[in-house]
Amino acid sequence: MLQLANIKKSFNEKKVIKGIDLSVRKGEVVVIVGPSGSGKSTLLRMMNALEYPTEGDIRLEGESILYKDINGKHTSRNDKELSKFRAEIGMVFQGFHLFAHKTVLENIIEGPIYVRKIKKEQAIQEAEYLLKKVGLSDKRDQYPHSLSGGQQQRIAIARALAMKPKMLLFDEPTSALDPELVGEVLIVMKELALEGMTMAVVTHEMGFAREVGDRVIFIDQGVIVQDAPPEKFFHTTNGNERIRKFLSTLS
Ligand code: ADP
Ligand code: MG
Repeated sequence: MLQLANIKKSFNEKKVIKGIDLSVRKGEVVVIVGPSGSGKSTLLRMMNALEYPTEGDIRLEGESILYKDINGKHTSRNDKELSKFRAEIGMVFQGFHLFAHKTVLENIIEGPIYVRKIKKEQAIQEAEYLLKKVGLSDKRDQYPHSLSGGQQQRIAIARALAMKPKMLLFDEPTSALDPELVGEVLIVMKELALEGMTMAVVTHEMGFAREVGDRVIFIDQGVIVQDAPPEKFFHTTNGNERIRKFLSTLS
């Protein structure tokens, strides 16, 4: 589904991603973990072209999402192509990013109408189905500020799904939530995984990584230190000192 080949990324002179190869297969759930500042968000943002690698290539179903100018420097594709890629790879952020001045329903139908160009009636029908799926049908006409953080994040997930993405990226989707609201978001994500959604998830929720992840990828200082199935990653005999240290800092 998605292939990253020898990705490097610098900000000014600072090397943040130092050569990452990563493939995500269709239906796979890849959980990305690692210390703060290790490059997880930058990596995720490159996966849907919110950020461009300094070197390397990113392919969605075999097609490069990057564009190189005559100097070989990565530049943006044109806006139309870019919005097509962004629609195909949905992103859910730590801070929800809902439109504050739009109702829940309006938040969900905006993208389908303006980017997917579907009729409003159909967009509403699909949105109602998705609201039911995330358990928030009764919030349809409310504004985001009247919802809890967990509810807002479930709406953000419904909004991402409304674009019918091929893949979903989650960047610490539960990190901004009060502890008692984390579970309701993880349940929605787990259901998506069981339905076969292809997902890359940056999270510190090791229970989720263990239970839902097909692979756990540990990133430190811009490189992949380990890429392993959870049973291996969490095994007490995991020989990697940096990983053991990281795991001991959580909870
Ligand atoms: P993580 O998500 O793992 O905490 P990030 O990908 O956010 O890490 O950041 C990795 C490093 O890149 C950090 O040192 C951060 O300061 C730097 N960085 C991220 N985005 C930018 C940017 N837009 N400009 C300059 N430095 C950045
Ligand atoms: Mg981050």
